[in-house]
Amino acid sequence: MRFVLSMDMENDAFREDTGPEVARILRNLARTVEHRSLDTDDDGILLDLNGNRAGMWEVIEGPTCTVCDAPLSHEGATCPNQRLSAHP
Ligand SMILES: [Zn+2]
Repeated sequence: MRFVLSMDMENDAFREDTGPEVARILRNLARTVEHRSLDTDDDGILLDLNGNRAGMWEVIEGPTCTVCDAPLSHEGATCPNQRLSAHP
């Protein structure tokens, strides 16, 4: 599984100081998810200080090796188990 987050920093809420607003949104998100068991297809939106949509997050199935099902860093990446004799 993979947690994917995208935040747009073009809204007015980011005009003054970007870091504090990003941090505020991430803290809110942390509070939202910290007591949940996340699974694929979980998702949500990120709201800035003014209540405007600033992004979204989702949990997706990440790419896996077609031979051994190990998680891969990205689509087409070399499998970390490729050196094992049982791995063709
Ligand atoms: Zn593999």
